[in-house]
Amino acid sequence: MEHRVWSESIASALLRKHGLRVTSPRVAISMTLLEQHCHYTAQQLHAKLVPLQPALSPNTVYLTLNQLAAVGVITRFKLSGNTIFDSNTTTHDHALCRECGRLEDLQSEALDTPTSPASIKEWVLEGGTRIWSGFCPTCNESENKTA
Ligand SMILES: [Zn+2]
Ligand SMILES: [Zn+2]
Repeated sequence: MEHRVWSESIASALLRKHGLRVTSPRVAISMTLLEQHCHYTAQQLHAKLVPLQPALSPNTVYLTLNQLAAVGVITRFKLSGNTIFDSNTTTHDHALCRECGRLEDLQSEALDTPTSPASIKEWVLEGGTRIWSGFCPTCNESENKTA
């Protein structure tokens, strides 16, 4: 997994570059998302950050994530009714564990580039990701142990 070193100054510069005011919640959210490729719902990210920033409201997290997605710093997609925010903005598929919900990037080298299906031509598509579901190694192993 790609790991980038992010500092507050890099996060601040990124926000400014995209015309977003630099606030401490925005810096914290950007740093968490961009340190390494990850997926969060607004609720998950709020739960992660609130011990560090007790004043942070779920609504601020939600609005900030949508602002970052609107300027293209992150992407978003829907999964089982939840909006997933993804800091990997390259084209890629996903593997989803239906036991524990683990969601992982599948880099697209080995996969053909998804093209929008011809059968939905009346839709306005914002982008797409394919989700491959099954069991992650951890769940697969514990399944085998109990069986
Ligand atoms: Zn799992
Ligand atoms: Zn992803």
